[in-house]
Amino acid sequence: MSQQGYITTPPYSQGQPGMGGYPTGFGSATSQPHYGHYGGTGPLKPVSSPHGPSISVGHSPTSPPQFGQTSLQNGIYSPGNQMPSYAVSSPGSGQTPSFQFHGSHPQSMYQNTSPPAFTQQVIGQIGAMKISGYGSSQAPSQSDPSLSGPPLQPSFQGSQPQQRLPPISSPPTQGMSVAPAVPTATMPPGGAAPPPAGMNISHAGLNQGSVGYQQVPGQPPMAGYLQQQGGIYGGQQRGVQSNYPGTYPGAPATGAQLAGPQQKKLDPDSIPSPIQVIEEDKLRRSGQLFATNTRGQVPPLVTTKCVVQDQGNASPRFIRCTTYCFPSTADMAKQSQIPLAAVIKPFATLPANEAPVCVVSHRETGPIRCNRCKAYMCPLMQFIEGGRRYQCGFCSCVNEVPPFYFQHLDHMGRRLDQYDKPELSLGSYEFMATLDYCKNSKPPNPPAFIFMIDVSYSSIKIGCVKLICEELKTLLDKLPRADQAETSAIRVGFVTYNKVLHFYNLKSSLAQPQMLVVSDVGEMFVPLLDGFLVNVQESRNVINNLLDQIPEMFAETSESETVFAPVIQAGLEAMKAAECSGKLFIFQSSLPTAEAPGKLRNRDDRKLVNTDKEKVLFQSQSHFYETLAKDCVANSCCVDVFLFPNQFVDVSTMGVVPLATGGSLYKYNNFQIQPDGEHFLNDLRKDVQKSIGFDAIMRVRTNTGFRATEFLGSMYMNNTTDVELAAIDCDKAITVEFKHDDKLSEENGALIQCALLYTNVAGQRRLRIHNLALNCSSQHTDLYKSCETDALINFFAKSAYKAILNQPLKTVREILVNQTAHILACYRKNCASPSSAGQLILPEAMKLLPVYMNCLLKSYVLLGSPDIPTDERTFQRLQVTSMDVVGTQSFFYPRLVPIHKMDVNSEEIPAAVRCSEERLADGGIFLLANGINMFLWLGLNSPPELIQGIFNVPTFAHINTDLTSLPELDNPYSKKIRMIIDDIRSQSPYSMKLIILKQKEKSEGIFRQFLVEDKGIHGGASYVDFLCYVHKEIRQLLT
Ligand SMILES: [Zn+2]
Repeated sequence: MSQQGYITTPPYSQGQPGMGGYPTGFGSATSQPHYGHYGGTGPLKPVSSPHGPSISVGHSPTSPPQFGQTSLQNGIYSPGNQMPSYAVSSPGSGQTPSFQFHGSHPQSMYQNTSPPAFTQQVIGQIGAMKISGYGSSQAPSQSDPSLSGPPLQPSFQGSQPQQRLPPISSPPTQGMSVAPAVPTATMPPGGAAPPPAGMNISHAGLNQGSVGYQQVPGQPPMAGYLQQQGGIYGGQQRGVQSNYPGTYPGAPATGAQLAGPQQKKLDPDSIPSPIQVIEEDKLRRSGQLFATNTRGQVPPLVTTKCVVQDQGNASPRFIRCTTYCFPSTADMAKQSQIPLAAVIKPFATLPANEAPVCVVSHRETGPIRCNRCKAYMCPLMQFIEGGRRYQCGFCSCVNEVPPFYFQHLDHMGRRLDQYDKPELSLGSYEFMATLDYCKNSKPPNPPAFIFMIDVSYSSIKIGCVKLICEELKTLLDKLPRADQAETSAIRVGFVTYNKVLHFYNLKSSLAQPQMLVVSDVGEMFVPLLDGFLVNVQESRNVINNLLDQIPEMFAETSESETVFAPVIQAGLEAMKAAECSGKLFIFQSSLPTAEAPGKLRNRDDRKLVNTDKEKVLFQSQSHFYETLAKDCVANSCCVDVFLFPNQFVDVSTMGVVPLATGGSLYKYNNFQIQPDGEHFLNDLRKDVQKSIGFDAIMRVRTNTGFRATEFLGSMYMNNTTDVELAAIDCDKAITVEFKHDDKLSEENGALIQCALLYTNVAGQRRLRIHNLALNCSSQHTDLYKSCETDALINFFAKSAYKAILNQPLKTVREILVNQTAHILACYRKNCASPSSAGQLILPEAMKLLPVYMNCLLKSYVLLGSPDIPTDERTFQRLQVTSMDVVGTQSFFYPRLVPIHKMDVNSEEIPAAVRCSEERLADGGIFLLANGINMFLWLGLNSPPELIQGIFNVPTFAHINTDLTSLPELDNPYSKKIRMIIDDIRSQSPYSMKLIILKQKEKSEGIFRQFLVEDKGIHGGASYVDFLCYVHKEIRQLLT
């Protein structure tokens, strides 16, 4: 028994009065609807949570964050830039949640009860499927025996022979007095922390390797910055830094740990490292061919570049799953609590070295489909009776093969033409659709793009009108087109607006565009049919003429009010009249306060944060927009909105239509041409040019035994099976959850077919099919071995971000934590070999679940800090909702690249380092990117040759941090870093504005929130503390 072990006394155990907590309603477990998604019917688990009663640490809710002075714009929230105050009015009654959830349970069911015995607990709770949530976050008392387990021996655990590692102890670090402390139950303020508890970690599984927890004597991870931060940030982070999870505002503070900075920390190097996992996967699989011929094959991580060859299953670029081996039974699924989900990105862009999706025509009969379940012909159909019939792999129905499709079988029962037909040999392909698949049995018209520009005073003043008009002159030549086509079939139209709308007649025969004004915005109509939507080539001159004139026409405007909903209605009416689908590009600078349908009022009420009413902030303020969104979807009108706000614009409401129509939302806070123009234009270019399908409907079919039950993404659903998409582009992913409705057989596996009917940019009706076969097993080991943590996080994020519309955030966070503990406890119980209870054992494929889950819990959306503007939270919520796995992976765990380590002679990007302050170095330059934000952080002692090479200035002091792009210099450093930035940007749908920061300057503070392994600026546990917390939860479940 090592005395140097780490005592598992969780530092998060107890609320501490007097720590400046938020007063608001965290602790009270009133009767609340429950996180619908997980709201099973079973009993609830009374596990304590790190996000419990309302105490926070050294952090006054009323004082604005000090770092807010920094001028940070475009996607990054900067409190200092916010308008000083927003008018606050209480949300109106009669609001309805934008989305319905099932499964409401009064929370009172789940009040604190003492933990049931193991059998009850595991069978009753885990068995109840999906954690039904926590009653109230009961903080275990300090004397809770479960919290102070005996020190434990570190050891390896798993299927392989156990190895034992002695705990490693490092020498005390400077400034921290830390001899291994004497175990003590009480901790006087400022006194010594409890002795380190023996907590060991094992990553069981294939490359099982575990590391004993290394103690680093009481060193807060960010010690190096202590002094500086003390000045800039006050005690706000420092106070929480060395503590425990649950530094969410209102979370339970721990008595002991808060009392003094000195405590034993786990050595971060001894706990699972995202970077290590990413790099090991790269080492193993990078550059290799991933052939999809094997059922249930786990693909390389999204961070590993490889070439995918479709050999019968859809590429992971199209579909990624939370596990590639489904549990055979619902019971087993309930026990493990691993969500069974697929993240589907039907139009994913394929790299040039992979074969494009083939198009198949089954002539006038249309695609061959199963008579019963309507699944499309695919490699999962079994041909029988000499090829005259086939048995459906999904529903087992035996179907006749149409005469034109007949083919003989070989001795293996395979059709002789199997490899000639994409639909018999590939996972992904397209069918030409027949008229039966078209609205009113008529071939669709080519889609339209309508550009709708706010020309109110503020929009003109910030210069974005001129910028947009100039850009469109060239951008219109780059509209998406069919593969072989020389020009785009997409027609374009233009509207400008403030309180009224101006339509333009751009008929090619006109010398000058004609303006038609509609001032009755209450009953929107389109004043012209002919000449509104035109072909770019034909009307080129008139269009250019218009784009030249718009900025001038409104240059002197004093109109400051705008409308918004009527703008969408106008676009919608134009598309209805032209009988086409398409997309609106709306450029709006302010809250639509003009008298009109959909008029909005300023209602940013951050007093609701951390109350049970917080969900109201995420709901739209006017039901009008839900109805409008429905109308848009019914008419295949997708809506993209570009916002240029300098104050609250109610993203929750203005985002409703984009979210439901498969559109995108962009936001440029305090837009200025100089730093932000290029960033916006890059976003606009990407957005206009991306490949896209319109008027789409998606259906996910499965074989008998399970089915799709929940869909999460930027879309609309009118019933429980059909996903309606006004449009879907190459970056949008829909996450689908599956549930058992019967037993699955190991022989048949779990089969998924996603069929997407859509109109392409040329106006052709197509069916895109993706098939994926997964394994099934009755062994937990198989299930856990086949999981993909990145996909799990995508699912958890989207489902949690949806749940907050109806549930208190606290409940949602607790459920996430609880489910994490359940998943890992079930592994421990069923898969790991017996070992000491003090050991934390993580499945190899899921060893990053705790760190990523903690990042999700700390995200702006779930954090619940009144310091964070509501618009920022909602904006992130909407962005994540449509993300694929690549997107969520980098969003929740940003990439931190040590630029000073780049090898200018290599194509490679240096391996990233972990997102923690302690990984930064004075002598280093680091690039951080999360798909939306990008920073270049410059250490005080950055190498002079790099400074010269990258910035062309002699010293650190000369670097101009106002730059938003790096100078294009002809030297290897400059070329290499720009190559790295371009490469990272190419992987995100957003262009990511580059922000340059110098170490120890005020602006550095904004960067800190992205160091996600550390304690959060606005709250949220460090990785180490969260891991300890989860471990404690697991132990509670197992005892
Ligand atoms: Zn069938």
